[in-house]
Amino acid sequence: MSESPATTATPGPRADGPQENAPLLEVRGVTKTFGSGRRRLTALDGVDMEIGRGRVLGLVGESGCGKSTLARVLLGLERPDAGTVRFDGTDPFALRGKELLAWRRRVQMVFQDPFASLNARMSAADLIGEPWRTHRDVVPGARAREKRIRELLNLVGLRESDADRYPNEFSGGQRQRIGIARALALDPDLIVCDEPVSALDLSVQAQVLNVLSDLRARLGVTYVFISHDLSVVRYLCDRVTVMYLGKVVEHGDTDDVFENPQHPYTAALMSAAPVLGPGSDSRREEIQLQGEIPSPFDIPSGCRFRTRCPRAEERCASEEPPVVARETADGAEPHSALCHFPLAAGSSWA
Ligand code: SF4
Repeated sequence: MSESPATTATPGPRADGPQENAPLLEVRGVTKTFGSGRRRLTALDGVDMEIGRGRVLGLVGESGCGKSTLARVLLGLERPDAGTVRFDGTDPFALRGKELLAWRRRVQMVFQDPFASLNARMSAADLIGEPWRTHRDVVPGARAREKRIRELLNLVGLRESDADRYPNEFSGGQRQRIGIARALALDPDLIVCDEPVSALDLSVQAQVLNVLSDLRARLGVTYVFISHDLSVVRYLCDRVTVMYLGKVVEHGDTDDVFENPQHPYTAALMSAAPVLGPGSDSRREEIQLQGEIPSPFDIPSGCRFRTRCPRAEERCASEEPPVVARETADGAEPHSALCHFPLAAGSSWA
């Protein structure tokens, strides 16, 4: 990636929040259902999560687990039925008019498919600068905008001469870089990345991940990173939130969750992830989950994972499991799971 010239973005975590050490984003008890009566689908059920400034949170789970609905809530596109969302201490769903517009600038998205998300009739410069049509005061004036577009192209590893080219003249990886530059154009605090590399070739995936990682180091951007690819999550994320049928079932530091999962579902997911590094236990046995994920219209009683869990006992069918927290090193953030019979650190599956 080429070096960037001086940029107008703020390096490191922002100083304009109400509390420097408070999480940038806090979600508490968020529930979201769709439909009514027997056709009521529970997409999110009492979700708690938080993200510190400048951190990267991975959101993982099978399709239908609620990741995308949660992302839409974080982006302000879906209002929860219950629970609270606090962004930098503010409830975004209580904002109106100019305040709402100012908040929208601070939360941006990078989409999965760079082919579908860019208008083929716009040049790279127009695509990157398009958000300024709505948020006019972020970069005022034509000269400043041209300069900022050059900076953004450099930041994502494209050439200034790419400004006048069109999406069909770029490779998939380059198009995703344009998508990232476009998300950065509004100088956001939080970027929600929805499977941002899954449509790309393996070799290109690594390059785009490096761009995202580099931007975090330079600009202090906070990411929520949705991915089904656990090796990508392990590479990029500080914390991982595992979801199953609309609930957070495990949450903790990435290495801790990968190495010592507490929830049987997480253990199964992690067992299928590639083992990294020369010192890793490459003999890790893959755990095959039995059965299909139940319908979100008909969620099992007690623990919703019990229909697929080999550790399930009677109690799992009648009682909702509690949140259990495992002790972590001094000062480390908690590692919690939702289970009656969590796995002990270093224990095997059975
Ligand atoms: S509560 Fe019971 S069924 Fe649910 S994950 Fe834990 S052991 Fe399995």
